[in-house]
Amino acid sequence: MAYNQILPDDTGSEHIIEIKDLCKSFDGTKVLKNITFYIRNNEFITLLGPSGCGKSTTLRIIAGFETADSGIVNFEGKDLKSVPANKRNINTVFQRYALFPHLNVFDNVAFGLKIKKVNKKEIEQRVNKALETVGLDNYGERYIDQLSGGQMQRVAIARAIVNRPRILLLDEPLGALDLKMRKEMQIELKEMQRELGITFVYVTHDQEEALTMSDTIIVMKDGIIQQIGTPIDIYNEPKNAYVADFIGESNIVAGTMKKDNEVVLSSGITFKCVDPLFPEFTEGIANLVDVVIRPEDFYVDEEAEGRINGTVESLVFKGVHYEMIVKSDDGIEWLVQNVDPSAVGSRVGLYVDPDDIQIMRRSELSPEFGSFGIKHQAAEENSEAKEAKSNSIGENVVEEADIKKDEDAEESAEVEKED
Ligand code: ADP
Ligand code: MG
Repeated sequence: MAYNQILPDDTGSEHIIEIKDLCKSFDGTKVLKNITFYIRNNEFITLLGPSGCGKSTTLRIIAGFETADSGIVNFEGKDLKSVPANKRNINTVFQRYALFPHLNVFDNVAFGLKIKKVNKKEIEQRVNKALETVGLDNYGERYIDQLSGGQMQRVAIARAIVNRPRILLLDEPLGALDLKMRKEMQIELKEMQRELGITFVYVTHDQEEALTMSDTIIVMKDGIIQQIGTPIDIYNEPKNAYVADFIGESNIVAGTMKKDNEVVLSSGITFKCVDPLFPEFTEGIANLVDVVIRPEDFYVDEEAEGRINGTVESLVFKGVHYEMIVKSDDGIEWLVQNVDPSAVGSRVGLYVDPDDIQIMRRSELSPEFGSFGIKHQAAEENSEAKEAKSNSIGENVVEEADIKKDEDAEESAEVEKED
């Protein structure tokens, strides 16, 4: 290892940045509470969390635009405390591009180099190379107001990479772009990062964006890190109900475990799982847990003992799969995705592979019993939309007539009316 690392890491990788016990308050409110993490050299790391959780503040402290109340920010083993922002070899790309409208693209990108009195020839080389990297080879003469949002974002990135920083900080850089442009830029940014060999520290509140681009994701809530891991770790093994709910759609319900590899849902159904009891749990008593099941992990079949039996409450076509809400007999509403539709009102039995059941400790982050959070609301809006027979963008509400009704479905439709 090239320098002294202060944070433990069993992978033996080199930490270009180490942040330890970072705290920051604004007007007496703590917005960062003992933030501790490291950034590996050349990785694409993302701070992910809802608005106000402290992502930008963390980034601004790394950049040197903000000072922490306490804590350490080390860059290649050296404390950055007394290093001013412009001496940090770190550049930032903001959501609002902060470009100069009265300068053309070339001069916008060249601006920092001119101030540093880099010679003209080198400026030309470096600016042209940066513009090439962001796909704007022939745009040097254009003025900023002649560019699309996506092109402005590229200029902002070119302006940052022309300085050849060791680290690029990107604060919601794609936030102002429309969805299609954002998707394209996500892929390009990731390619750029590989090509340039620069460490990217990315901030977003968009979980899908984080999952698509990152090597490592740091999930934050209220100034506290909830989990650090690869996108796959975080998706498949969320540490608590907050992370599970924030990263993709989940069913999170209360359960208990008396022994290894077996969880009893609140409704009394026993499912096999791959998790042993947590070390602090006592065998033989009903230890409280949260159970996470992703909507895509359900098998939808006939009612049977040992399955979650319930009635299909709503059905929405999502392009590749159908999304349903199934209300089980104990009143819990389950979000279920399946490639085959089940008619509204029909009875189904849900089950899950042991591998696909995730067990978490109960905590203050546990949701209300049987809820699946904000996503639940969205699904309800969809079923309202169904009633109104209005279609929202990209989602087609399924007409009941589209589904071959079997007798079963008709019977339960009767039941539904009685409800
Ligand atoms: P995020 O980027 O995750 O949306 P921020 O780091 O910008 O969150 O902000 C975290 C909290 O700190 C928010 O409640 C925000 O209002 C507050 N905050 C950020 N910057 C300042 C500031 N300069 N003065 C006062 N409060 C601030
Ligand atoms: Mg922010």
